[in-house]
Amino acid sequence: MKTNNRFKMVAIFVGLALLTGVLCLFAYTTQGEEKKTSGEVKLETSENILPGARGAYVIDIKLNNDKKFHISAEVEVTNDSKESWKDIGFDFIPNALTKENKPYLLPNSGKVSIISITKSSKEIPYELTKNKLFLKLEKSLKPGKSTKVKIEYTLELPENGFRLSRVDDSYYLAHWYPMLGHYQNGWNINDYLIKGESYDTSYGSYVVNYDLPKEFLVASSGYEGDIKQTSAGKIEGNNIKDFYMALLDPKDWISKTSTVNGTTLRLFFPSNKTNVAGLMIKDASDAFAYFEENIGDYPFSELDIIANNGGMEYPNIVEVSNNEQNYENTLVHEIAHQWFYFMVSNNPYNDAWLDESLTVFLTSTYLLNKYGDETTGFERALRISAYQSNKKIVNIAQEEFGKGYVSTIYGKVPILLRDFFKELGGQEEALKFLSAYFKQFQFKYVDSYSFSVFFNEYFQGDYSDFLEEWLELKKDAPIN
Ligand SMILES: [Zn+2]
Repeated sequence: MKTNNRFKMVAIFVGLALLTGVLCLFAYTTQGEEKKTSGEVKLETSENILPGARGAYVIDIKLNNDKKFHISAEVEVTNDSKESWKDIGFDFIPNALTKENKPYLLPNSGKVSIISITKSSKEIPYELTKNKLFLKLEKSLKPGKSTKVKIEYTLELPENGFRLSRVDDSYYLAHWYPMLGHYQNGWNINDYLIKGESYDTSYGSYVVNYDLPKEFLVASSGYEGDIKQTSAGKIEGNNIKDFYMALLDPKDWISKTSTVNGTTLRLFFPSNKTNVAGLMIKDASDAFAYFEENIGDYPFSELDIIANNGGMEYPNIVEVSNNEQNYENTLVHEIAHQWFYFMVSNNPYNDAWLDESLTVFLTSTYLLNKYGDETTGFERALRISAYQSNKKIVNIAQEEFGKGYVSTIYGKVPILLRDFFKELGGQEEALKFLSAYFKQFQFKYVDSYSFSVFFNEYFQGDYSDFLEEWLELKKDAPIN
């Protein structure tokens, strides 16, 4: 996610006084069509960071005229851990956004009501506490085995909500379905937080059938193809770690497309302020081409960009700013997340720096290259790093940051990396390193420890002193 958008959210909720306190923001295939392949790489991966659970989702979603969704999510769950399971854990965030459960900073709530949870058409018991949903199994699910469960519920989105949101007659479906948790010595599902990303999901396959009461423009983590108004359809996507979908009211949105190296960028822009849409699709295409050239191939055939001021990354789709004077940093940042967050995966709760700080670093490097001056490139990170309360050790749980989350993750770490690479030859060396790191871990799961092993191997030395100044490096650090 992007800092300035999170600031705006906070400003909306609690006024400018809190501006400095709170902030935002494997295996392999494609949606629909594969574009290219990449080489296989081998490096020790700690079992501690493997997801331990895999899901294949078939979701039917129907929107009624009363703005209420009826959703049926069938999930084929595979136990990839070494333990037998007595239950299956899901992160069901809509239930953390109800009137009773929502974070107090959020003004509006949604409604969710579970109709049934079944296995082989038989109802099974479950426990639902805020966002944590545990399905109780009558018979244990052994390692390597799979089972199918079905969760049926209704959902009304918070109006002008945070990520999961309805705005007028457009619907932004972020973390809207039960997302299978990670399993490492138990289910690792965190309490829902609006600071950073509290949910850790694994790569899975999706089939989403939608049925709408009128025609919408549909954009999602899956593959849609040509932009057209539609009221029913099927979307598919493989190896997606989180399935997002937007239903956009055609009267409020226009679209523009651009194809870059076989990937179509599809920009959706508010129809009442279209004068920068052309420039924005060009800026998006330039950044995308730069990341493909300098970091690595984007193997998917579609990337959707919704300019709704969301400032948030999802697989194959991003929400970005539509501020005519000041959209570029957010746009580039969210696109860069496709490399560091989506195609290289990490736990954003414990290792937020691996997705956010690397994304800020890459974004700043791109802007530095584009505009040719240090001030423009790293200006924002420098400003943020001066805020307050930088943490010494940066790979700590989000809750432990206190007020230092923004300044540490979006400021201190990118600057620290910039300074490290400055001594080694600057941005060219930095890009070479990021590219090698990306290729090593593409569609895999990383933590701070595996990053450090790679770092030492890449530079052929022991950089522990440097790394341990800001990272706690334990191979078998507890997950939470
Ligand atoms: Zn971000």
